[in-house]
Amino acid sequence: MKIKIVENVLRDNDAVARTNRERMIDAGLLALNITSAPGSGKTMLLEKTIDALAPEQRCAVLVGDLQTTRDAERLAAGAAEIAQINTGRGCHLSAAQVCEGLAGLKLERISFLFIENVGNMVCPAGFDLGEHLRVAMLSTPEGDDKVAKYPTLFQPADVILLNKIDLADILDFDIGRVRSDLERINTRAPLLEISAKSGAGLDAWIDWLKLCRENLTGSGKMD
Ligand code: MG
Ligand code: ZN
Repeated sequence: MKIKIVENVLRDNDAVARTNRERMIDAGLLALNITSAPGSGKTMLLEKTIDALAPEQRCAVLVGDLQTTRDAERLAAGAAEIAQINTGRGCHLSAAQVCEGLAGLKLERISFLFIENVGNMVCPAGFDLGEHLRVAMLSTPEGDDKVAKYPTLFQPADVILLNKIDLADILDFDIGRVRSDLERINTRAPLLEISAKSGAGLDAWIDWLKLCRENLTGSGKMD
């Protein structure tokens, strides 16, 4: 019986996710679901990403957090629009929560929507939010074994970001191990080595984002 309940929850979630995706395609925006462990640098990545894309590209953020609005406050400076989703005890975002968040945004005026998922390497992977692309991020302090340990996070990713690359040597982080694990789990997604803090590698990430939006909408610019 329990298994059936879980199946129903996922089926309902997928239906809402499909509606979210259609709404966002109609509005001409590219939506990305950012997944990672807590502390790997999602919020700082978004701060730097929005800095690099604005003002030419209008960016909006949906921030999922258990309790606080701290991430939303950090991102409010650069983002054109921002909506906070407090998940309470929930350890992942659901499509229904994203649907509620979308209601507070002027979708037609947005080029990129970044959904910062709750920091968690397990269940966010199982919930389609209606995003167009999935981002999985790993940071070097978490250890070079995490791709093999949490394959469900990395399997559906369209791009994999390896953050805090500036600490790789200090931490004896073996990038080769990540690459060889990804050869078994996901050969489709590019692996981008970045440091959100120093800015290293961010150009390739920004280029990738712009290219993906061009592919979705047939134009790199909204207005
Ligand atoms: Mg954050
Ligand atoms: Zn969860």
